[in-house]
Amino acid sequence: MNPTRPKAFLIDLDGTLYFKSEPCPGAIETVHYLRQEKYQLRFLTNTTAKTPKMLHKQMQALGFDIHENEIFNATYACLLYLRSQPDVSCHFMVDDAVKAFFKEIPTNNDTPDFVVVGDYGKRFNFHTLNHAFRLLMDGAELIALQKSPYWFSPEGIFLDCGAFVTLLETASGKTAKVMGKPSETFFRIALDSLQLSQSEAIVVGDDITSDIVGAQATKMRSILVKTGKFKPHQLENPVAKPTWVLDSVLELSQLF
Ligand SMILES: [Mg+2]
Repeated sequence: MNPTRPKAFLIDLDGTLYFKSEPCPGAIETVHYLRQEKYQLRFLTNTTAKTPKMLHKQMQALGFDIHENEIFNATYACLLYLRSQPDVSCHFMVDDAVKAFFKEIPTNNDTPDFVVVGDYGKRFNFHTLNHAFRLLMDGAELIALQKSPYWFSPEGIFLDCGAFVTLLETASGKTAKVMGKPSETFFRIALDSLQLSQSEAIVVGDDITSDIVGAQATKMRSILVKTGKFKPHQLENPVAKPTWVLDSVLELSQLF
């Protein structure tokens, strides 16, 4: 029996459509196929070092037919959240381009309401982390753009902002509000933008702990692809169970 056809796919970018700066095999053709079949698409990524505009340029350069308004990242979800909070100020630990994206939110490095942690690269050090820790101990709340502990680049594996968020949580005893995957809020923002319910969309991703956990929390069907971050041992006692497991996104066209 064929599975119920969805109206939309919420597709991860890193590890699902591209990996280490190269498109995954068949990924460009798959996006093309899904458009031909009139599926609505949203691209959900935890990449926080870039704005949706920058991600759009990057995906176009790789050869993908993706529109800027289809890209949702944790940075955008965070801006929507901060806009919904009256008169807040923040201490930002984010990349300069991302800081500019938050320009409407007042910066406060002494008595902020929130410490916002994203991709801060080499600027994560004892001094900057200890400053953030003190702000948390003085009453600020912690926001994590995402909580992935590591990521892959062409130069190798790197610590991601989640590792530093966990460090700050442990030291301060506070729990971060997570903006990106697997936060249910993040998937809801994408569904709302499509005016669809959770039964009408399917999540596609390479990461059980972000893509599949988030899909399960939002009660959506999901597809785990065995590219990018995927490791076979993750399917033994998985933290969340995908509806389907495919070798790569290329097999999507055989399923739907
Ligand atoms: Mg991924």
